[in-house]
Amino acid sequence: MSSEQLRREFGGDVIEPGAADYAAASRSLLASGSPAVVLRPKTVEDVRAAVRFAAGAGLVLSVRGGGHGFPGFGTNDGGVVIDLGALADVAVVDPQRHVVRIGGGATWGQVAVALAPHGLAISSGDTRSVGVGGLTLTGGIGWKVRKYGLALDSVVGAEVVTADGGVVHASATEHPDLFWAIRGGGGNFGVVTAFEFVAHPTTEVFHGRIAFPAAEVGAVLRGWADYLRTAPEALTSIASFANPFAGGAQAPLEVFVAFDGDDLSAAAAAVDPIRRLGTVLDDDVTRKAYADVLVEGMVPPPGVQLVTRSGFVGTESVPEVLRILTEAGASGRSPYIAVRSVGGAVARVAPEATAYAHRQAELMVATTTGGPQPVIDAARPGLTALWDRLAPHLDGLYANFLSSATEDDVAGIYPAETYERLAAVKRSYDPENLFSRNHNVRP
Ligand SMILES: Cc1cc2nc3c(=O)[nH]c(=O)nc-3n(C[C@H](O)[C@H](O)[C@H](O)COP(=O)(O)OP(=O)(O)OC[C@H]3O[C@@H](n4cnc5c(N)ncnc54)[C@H](O)[C@@H]3O)c2cc1C
Repeated sequence: MSSEQLRREFGGDVIEPGAADYAAASRSLLASGSPAVVLRPKTVEDVRAAVRFAAGAGLVLSVRGGGHGFPGFGTNDGGVVIDLGALADVAVVDPQRHVVRIGGGATWGQVAVALAPHGLAISSGDTRSVGVGGLTLTGGIGWKVRKYGLALDSVVGAEVVTADGGVVHASATEHPDLFWAIRGGGGNFGVVTAFEFVAHPTTEVFHGRIAFPAAEVGAVLRGWADYLRTAPEALTSIASFANPFAGGAQAPLEVFVAFDGDDLSAAAAAVDPIRRLGTVLDDDVTRKAYADVLVEGMVPPPGVQLVTRSGFVGTESVPEVLRILTEAGASGRSPYIAVRSVGGAVARVAPEATAYAHRQAELMVATTTGGPQPVIDAARPGLTALWDRLAPHLDGLYANFLSSATEDDVAGIYPAETYERLAAVKRSYDPENLFSRNHNVRP
């Protein structure tokens, strides 16, 4: 398709270098870029025209949902960006079954606000500005993950514009191979213009932070992980420490909890065993509306980068991984460390049921280093050493918290069997690998 044809068939915004909003439109949260054009579709037909244009022009293509991806796939240099931000409608389409249709460019904040009046929510992530698209297509570890599973576990259908510009509906009964692949295989298979989720009834949650002294990191972390193995699944928790903005090695261990439910005594019974793990310095757990639990995402100042890396941990490796992380945190040269509880409903889905292959993991560990380039460069050797130590004890990588996209990363995200199956689906729906700005599965 030529540029002239694009302008005839595409009803959305076409933003080219020199346009007033080009600077803002050309970047994603964590990456700057210089695309030849940013296309902002308003309809599915626009997305089809944009895909046909990108394929015909032979230019690299970025598909941007919320634009929060760590590797910066949401932009590029010299290519086409399809920014789905205008496809953000949220509608309850089946009130009985709680089925919700959500535009592929919506953010989780928009979803939480739109669903709250219906008494519904979807377990997503912890941040309002993160996109439904990127988070869901590779997982989605949110505040209700142990009770309701990953964000992708609540998906029951999707409208997908494929590489040939066609549009298909994928579900358990229509294009089941594609439906399997988009639940874990990322943006490899097309542009998801809308997701259908089954939302869960939600009233309020008990949520907050319980802080412990840095000196107690090792003991509290171990007790926390042991407790979560048998804790009620309504309880989800993240433990983080070595926060460079709160004292680094001296920073408190912060255990964030979310108890899904509005019963104070049930919440107390679930959270109290965590309070008893050490010396509580601070405890602000209170009842809140679920939408208020999600935080505003930080927009890093210009020049500041965030480098993140993650891994899954199976039960047998938990003690050793926590020991290594505790040592790293106390070293004074540590990245920010966060450990998320998974398990529960995530582990009850059969490993082959979706392309997300890490069902048996008990924990997901992520580290984040932030700063200008020299700070990142100085931190690299330490980061490499830490992740080299962790590697033998990890059971796969979580694509959503990975700044890099090497062959090893892709192999860590998709075990060989999953990759083979994904590659077969890729051959059917994107044989030319048009959708390659992702943790790429080659046809
Ligand atoms: C501040 C912050 C907090 C976070 N918190 C959490 C959390 O609590 N839990 C968690 O699991 N993850 C979390 N993440 C990670 C997050 O899930 C990933 O960064 C995710 O990729 C962001 O999705 P996006 O749509 O915003 O990003 P984008 O950069 O727009 O997209 C990421 C990838 O998905 C593809 N994509 C996006 N939308 C579509 C679509 N509709 N169709 C086809 N392909 C698409 C893109 O092409 C790209 O390859 C967080 C990230 C940040 C920056």
